This record gives sequence, structure tokens and C-alpha cells, in this order.
Amino acid sequence: MKEIQTRAIHAGRPLPRIESAVVTPIFQTTIYEYHGEPYHDVGYLRLSTTPNHRVLSKRIADLEGSESALVTGSGMAAISGVLLTFLASGDHLLLQDCTYGGTSGLLNKELSKLGIRYTTIDAQDPASWKMLLTPSTKAIYVETLSNPLLELADLEAIVEFAQENGLVSIIDNTFASPAQCQPILLGFDIVLESCTKYLNGHNDLAAGCVAGTQKNVNRIKHTLDHLGGHLDAHGCFLLERGLKTLGLRVAHQSQSATRIAERLSRHPAVAQVSYPGLVIHPQHARAKRLLKGFGGMMSFELRGGLSAAEQFLGALEIAIVAPSLGGPESLIVRPAAAVHSGLSAEERARSGITDGLIRFSVGLEGTDDLLADLLSALGSVTGE
Ligand SMILES: *Cc1c(COP(=O)(O)O)cnc(C)c1O
Repeated sequence: MKEIQTRAIHAGRPLPRIESAVVTPIFQTTIYEYHGEPYHDVGYLRLSTTPNHRVLSKRIADLEGSESALVTGSGMAAISGVLLTFLASGDHLLLQDCTYGGTSGLLNKELSKLGIRYTTIDAQDPASWKMLLTPSTKAIYVETLSNPLLELADLEAIVEFAQENGLVSIIDNTFASPAQCQPILLGFDIVLESCTKYLNGHNDLAAGCVAGTQKNVNRIKHTLDHLGGHLDAHGCFLLERGLKTLGLRVAHQSQSATRIAERLSRHPAVAQVSYPGLVIHPQHARAKRLLKGFGGMMSFELRGGLSAAEQFLGALEIAIVAPSLGGPESLIVRPAAAVHSGLSAEERARSGITDGLIRFSVGLEGTDDLLADLLSALGSVTGE
């Protein structure tokens, strides 16, 4: 198989090239001539059947190692499409604890109205899962690397458990991206991503994708055709452009993050760094085995708690205080204040999200510049 950098640029390209164009042109047309196709195959923008969609589906399937893939209008469109395809009223889901806030929000606020229920699992403790099964359990849902503490789920045990118990195994691979992990090759049934993050990688587009067998992806597409979860033509163009540098970007971000995490873990103002590349990370050995590089995401806790964290964030000059991740601009956030503010103080404490915890998405800036900025901001905290 060719290297990721080659596939991210060429896989799925139309041949012969469209009007000899090297880059896929934007097909800014909602409708195509009708030739008697069945509904879901009609050439229509909402049905994701345009040339822009076809190229992206093939390219993403290639990157994920799946038979088929589909791009969607956002990561949440991918998640709602997947959950509404495999779960019906009365069904039950096993869900990793501390999943992305939007996912728990969807389950708690929307899918609960349809009578879809879930129980959370500790993704590190396979022995505890069996007793949580009910006769209506249909699927198990985890994230490759959890937010914000970068816990790496026991992916192999989840696949085995799902197969033994006839469950659909679903994984949100957003934090790792296919540059680091291809869960389909580990045996997962469905992989989904928020392409808003690493796949597009430029902080300028909301998009998502799902990957799996042709049969499963078709089922999800049919659900999204009804819900209206497609990506528009210009969005497809941006995603295809962003994707081309996936391998380069993630390799740089991984290298930078590894250096930064090591340096921060030796700093007196930092109580603890969570990064899969550090030997003290509880799943470091698994990360070495299952991931390519350790990625650009980390979190760390300041000894001085809330006030130190706020002082530190205010003193940074390069990293921008904002949620989201995976782009050229380094983004930094205090999860207790932003991403996880929907949780109660007690829930946050249980999930290890303390007031002084900081999540850092390492961007594409020079590593020395980022380190200097972080150390200078930390210096202003200790100097207090
Ligand atoms: C951002 C994110 C999502 C949601 O994606 P959108 O593109 O914002 O809809 C889902 N899962 C994870 C892990 C995310 O970080």
C-alpha cells in the first residue's frame, strides 16, 4: 500500500481527469440530468452524489482502510446519522464515559425522546462490560483518544466484545485521525470523524465523515439523505484541499507535541501532563502499539489551579484561547470553562476535569516558538 501522503493526494481521483483539471473542480450545481436512478442515487446535492462527493468518499475510504465512506455536513451529522441508523426506539447503547459533549448532548436531549437509552462504560475495564448488557443492547460506542485526558480505549477488547455479543462497534476517531489510527483495520464496524478537526485541518470548515462496509455506509447515507446531513460543494472542495496535507500536518504536530509534553512535564508549575507519548501515560504501551505517532493533543494541569490557569492563558501570545482542535493555529482551552461546562462540578471532578486543567491543540507553528511562548507564560504564573 502507498504511503499516507501519496494516498491523501491521489486516492479516488477521477480518471480520466475532469476536463484535464489537476484539482477536482467545484460542481456548483444542485441537480444533474435524471436517467431513471433510484431515489438515493439521483444526482442531487443533498443526496451526496456529486463528483465532489464521489472523490472525497473514495479518498476517505482509502485513508480509513474501509470498503466505503461518506462525507457529511459536520461531525455531529455523522454521529446522528450513525446512531439513528443503528439504534431504534427501545434500543440500548454502551457508551464510553466522558465522550464528546455533543454526543452526550444528542443522546440526552434528542435520542432520549425516541426512547433510545445508554449506559456508560469504563473503556479500560473489559471485565465490567458484560454485566451492563441488556437484551436490547445493539451497539458499543467509544472514542480513540478521549477528551480532554487522552485516554486510549482498549480498542482490541472492544472489537472482541462487540463481535462476541453481536453489537455494532462504533468509534469516533476525531482526535487520532486516520494519520494515527485506522480502527477499521482493528475490526471496528463503523468509524466516524469530525473532519472539522484534523482531516480538514485548517480551522475553516465544518464537515464530518463515516466509514465502513458498503452496506453499512449506504444505510447511514439513506438516513442522512432524509435528515439533510450533506456537505455542500464548496465545503467538499475545501475538505479535499485540506486533506492533502494530513500526513505532513499530523507528523509535525506529533513531533512538536512530544517535545512540548516532555518539557512541560518537567516544569515546576505543572502538576501533570496527559499525553500518550509520555511513559507515565497509563496507556503509553498501547499507544506505541496501536498509534502512528502520539498526536498533537495534550492536556496538563497547573499546580496553582483556576487562578494560575487563567493567568497562564492570558499571558500566551501565540496559542489562541478557543475550543476545537487540529488546525494550523494552536488552540488552548480550559475544559472546565468551555467544552465541559455543561457538566456539573461533581461530574467534572469524576472525569478528572479539574479547574486548573488545560487542553492544548498543538498547531503548525514553529516548535521552538511555541515552547518559548508556553514557558514564558508559565514563568509569569510561578513568578506571582
Ligand atoms: C468536534 C468533535 C465532534 C463534532 O464535530 P463537529 O464537526 O463540530 O460537528 C465530534 N467528536 C469529537 C471527538 C470532536 O472533537
